[in-house]
Amino acid sequence: HDQAMNTGDSEVPRHSEISDLEFCRFTVRSLPIAVVVVSPELKIIRFNPWAQEVTGYSEEEAIGRHCGDILHGGMCGVNCPMKTVINLRQPTMQVETTIQTKSGNVIPVKMSAAGLFDGDGNLIGGVEALQDISAFKSMEREKANLTSMFAHDMNSSLTGIHGLALRLLKIDDLNSEMPKKYIEVIEKEAGKLESLVRDFLEFSRLQTGRLNFNFNTTALDKELIELFELYQPKAAQRGIKLELQMTAVLPVIKADVDRLRRVFTNLLDNAIKFSNEKGTITISANDSDEEVSVQIKDDGIGISPEDLPFIFDLFYRGRSTAKKEGSGVGLGTVKAIVEGHGGRIFVSSEPGKGSVFEVRLPKVKQLGEN
Ligand code: ADP
Repeated sequence: HDQAMNTGDSEVPRHSEISDLEFCRFTVRSLPIAVVVVSPELKIIRFNPWAQEVTGYSEEEAIGRHCGDILHGGMCGVNCPMKTVINLRQPTMQVETTIQTKSGNVIPVKMSAAGLFDGDGNLIGGVEALQDISAFKSMEREKANLTSMFAHDMNSSLTGIHGLALRLLKIDDLNSEMPKKYIEVIEKEAGKLESLVRDFLEFSRLQTGRLNFNFNTTALDKELIELFELYQPKAAQRGIKLELQMTAVLPVIKADVDRLRRVFTNLLDNAIKFSNEKGTITISANDSDEEVSVQIKDDGIGISPEDLPFIFDLFYRGRSTAKKEGSGVGLGTVKAIVEGHGGRIFVSSEPGKGSVFEVRLPKVKQLGEN
C-alpha cells in the first residue's frame, strides 16, 4: 500500500471512463459478500451475484419480492433487522443467524444491516450484508465433537485398560484363567483406541492437505464389480441382498484407488450396519457429461432430519444410532477423500425408509474435448 502511495497515481490503473456510480456498482457486484438492498417497504431492489450464489435465487427471481420470502431468515418476523433499521434507524452488526436457500437448506450466516441514506440524509431503504459461515460452524462443531469423543470414548477405554492392568498387577498366579480374560479386554480396548487415533490422524492429514493422493487412471466399473463381489457374502451373512446396477460402461477416472475404495467400503459398511435384516442395498452407477455418479442406497433405519446436516462432521454420530459400534470418523473421511478427488458427496434419507449416498467424481477429459 505504501509503495503504491509513493509511486504516485501513475502506477494505479485509472479508469477515467468509469463514473463513481458505476465504480460503486462494480464493487458491490464483485464483493464476496451477499449484498441485498431493500426499499422502505422491504422489497428487494438489488441482489448481487454473491447473494445469488448463497441463496440459490437468481436476480430476476429476487427483485421485487419481500426480503423475508427470499431469505427466510432466522430473524425474520419478530426480530426483523430490516424493520429495526428502517423504523428505528438502528443498524445490526455482525449477528449470527440463519437463512434458508432456495433448495431448502438452512445455512448459518453472519449478518449486518444498515439504513441506506441518500446524499441529503434521507432514508431510502436498507442494505443487508450476509456471509456464509457454514465452514466455520462445521469446524466449531467438529472441535466440540472431538472434545466429547475424548471425554467419552477414549476416556472409557483408557479407564478400562488402566483398571484391568491394576487388577492384573495384584494377581499372583498370572497363568490362571482370569488374567487371560483381562488381557483379552485390554487388547480389544487398546485396538479400539488405536483405530480411533489412526482414523483421526488420517482425517486431519486429509483436511490439512498434507496427505498426497496417488492418482492413477482407474476403471470405475472394475472397482465396483470387485467391491460388489467382496461385499455380497458380508451382506448375505446379515440376510441382506446386495445388488449392482450399472447402465453402461463407465468412463475411466483419475483416482487414488486405495482411498476411493475406502470411500465405498465405508458407505457399504454403514449401509449394512444400519440396514434391517432382509433389506436390500443397491450400488448403482451412471455418468453425465462432466461427472460419474455412484449411488449406494439402503432401505434401512434412515437418518433423522435433525442429524442429516451434520453426519459428515468429524466424530458426529446420529442420535438414534449411537448404540451401534462406531466412532463417527467414517463419513468425515469419506467426504475429505471425495473432495480430494475434486468430487462431491450428497445424502438423502428418510427415517424408517432408508438412505442414499451419492458420490460424484469428475470425468477425465478425452482428447479432443475442451
Ligand atoms: P459411525 O458409523 O462410526 O457412527 P460415520 O461417520 O460413518 O460414523 O456415520 C455418522 C453417522 O451417520 C452414523 O452414526 C449414523 O447415525 C449416520 N449414518 C451413516 N450412514 C448411514 C446409513 N446408511 N443409514 C443410517 N444412518 C447412517
